[in-house]
Amino acid sequence: MRLIRQARTTIRPQALANGQSALPATRTESHAANRTSPARSSSPMRLILLTLTTALLWAAPPAEEAYLSHIKFLASDKLKGRGTGTPELEQAADYIARQFKDAGLQPVAGSYFQRFPVTTEAKLGGKNRLTLTLQGKKLSLKFNQDFVPLNMSGSGEYSGEAVFVGYGISAPEYNYDDYAGIDVRDKVVVMFRREPQETDDKATFNGRVYTRHAQFDSKVTNAKLHGAKAAIILSDVLSSGYGEVEKFAKNAGPANAGIPAVMLDGEEGEKLLAAAGLKLRELHTAIDADLKPRSQPLPNVAVALRADLSREVRQVRNVVGYLPGQTDEFLVVGAHYDHLGLGQQFSMAPNFAGKPHFGADDNASGTAGVIELAKQFSAVPNRKRGILFMTFAGEELGLLGSSFFVNNPQLPLEKAVAMINMDMIGRVKDNRVFIGGSGTGTNLKKLLETTPDQGLKFDTSETAGYGSSDHTSFTTKQVPVLFFFSGLHADYHKPSDTWDKINTTDAVKLLAYVGGVAGKLLAEERPQYVRVLPPQSAHTGTVGSVSGSSGYGPSFGSIPDFAEPPKGVRFADVRDGTPAAAAGLKAGDIMISFDGKDVANLMDFTVLLRQKKPGDEVEVTVLRNGQTLTVKVLLTARK
Ligand SMILES: [Zn+2]
Repeated sequence: MRLIRQARTTIRPQALANGQSALPATRTESHAANRTSPARSSSPMRLILLTLTTALLWAAPPAEEAYLSHIKFLASDKLKGRGTGTPELEQAADYIARQFKDAGLQPVAGSYFQRFPVTTEAKLGGKNRLTLTLQGKKLSLKFNQDFVPLNMSGSGEYSGEAVFVGYGISAPEYNYDDYAGIDVRDKVVVMFRREPQETDDKATFNGRVYTRHAQFDSKVTNAKLHGAKAAIILSDVLSSGYGEVEKFAKNAGPANAGIPAVMLDGEEGEKLLAAAGLKLRELHTAIDADLKPRSQPLPNVAVALRADLSREVRQVRNVVGYLPGQTDEFLVVGAHYDHLGLGQQFSMAPNFAGKPHFGADDNASGTAGVIELAKQFSAVPNRKRGILFMTFAGEELGLLGSSFFVNNPQLPLEKAVAMINMDMIGRVKDNRVFIGGSGTGTNLKKLLETTPDQGLKFDTSETAGYGSSDHTSFTTKQVPVLFFFSGLHADYHKPSDTWDKINTTDAVKLLAYVGGVAGKLLAEERPQYVRVLPPQSAHTGTVGSVSGSSGYGPSFGSIPDFAEPPKGVRFADVRDGTPAAAAGLKAGDIMISFDGKDVANLMDFTVLLRQKKPGDEVEVTVLRNGQTLTVKVLLTARK
């Protein structure tokens, strides 16, 4: 355990000896500025006292071992990676609530928990069937051996004709489309998994690195959007033989792609194509050789398919605790406490699916930070503003906990002066820390610059407050945000993200800094929200894409609300200066069709947008206050 030896080295004896004189001069300036702010109402003496106490408090960061003890528990074998919807996540929630209670935080609305529903993993039913009729001869296939439904499969039945569609990919960026010139409406489509030339470093599809097109969810959604009623994806075509039909497991993607979708063993796939006079391996080799699709109807083949899956909706909990202030204004200090559980979804080491993904840095480190800040701030007397400490569930599934909170706030959001989010703060390297969102509030930059930096170096280049973590939910509600992040590393989203790799010394330094900034947000002038024009890449609104092609496609401008409505995509926000904004679309609208195609979920929109080019004009229909509204959106290029 490397951290103990460096305990408390960060305390600068000088600071303590001289009271607050160790703080940089600027401190007084901001203090002076305060004198002119409405804070004036509370006695100047009390304000000085508050600032002194806060400063003294942050001269001595939290104890490293106390900080680490939370991470050790949250990232322990016992909690099995804290998957949303698992009993282990509930244990983590109870642990955090106990810490909040012990620190003297008050429950909110009578509880330390805010419950909300999530759709957890799909479960297989007993009625999964697949029968092939090949040249008139029936072949009943074995469930879980010859075929298995994919987790995002829709439940339902299909029987009828089949069409071969190569890899089932439409990739304008690679000038490749397996659906070009073929009609698959009301048919079942049969396709290869992954993408062309997958073992070739120079492959057109981003070399050996998979693009989004290789993902099951993208293929099944693309099939549906071309009118197919079901999809069959063949197991891997290996140099000799075929890959196993994968065990039913959670793969990335929408809860429900909307059509039945199964994986079929390559051996059976060979028989299916042979019945239509085709040789599977020849087709595979030919497409890889010249990247020319060979999609065609499959005569003498009839498919009868039934996919039987159920999805459970479970209640999970955000954990909340409040430290009241003298006014009803408050600061939010938050972090997500869920992680990937056994890593069946979003793992960066898919071969370790089924193994606990401990999530020590992601995000036990931020959660432990929230607990330690709560303990520290409960010792600060006479707080002008209150502090709402929160840990969110469902972040890995799409910011579900924070999005639920901002849409069902337990305290009035207009009283929230700012939101501080800590996600992955445990792996500071070379004293470097990323701070996002500094442009979203009038005086945030100044607050950051006038707080003692504890020897850390800050990259504040991302100012807009949008990104792949919970602060985004608050930005969409015009609450100024600050996002603290120590950077990605090789253990990200892998079982190897373990507690022994946490750099506690720098993490507690960072907490001291965050505490200093928070202290100012409690006492100083209230930041006013500023809408920052987005860097272009934020426009597509997809999170967690594999590589390369996530940046592809025209600009649109919506930030999706990941808590999906029953049908469509709800806009959590529409960015200024974007095609969507120019067309008059706004936050709260629910998109139900794009370019004449029904949009059932975010995946549909992602696939449809990816197939358009800058300069294309598309018709978009949204639901606004129950009324449908159709507008024309002129898509632009990303800069
Ligand atoms: Zn994560």
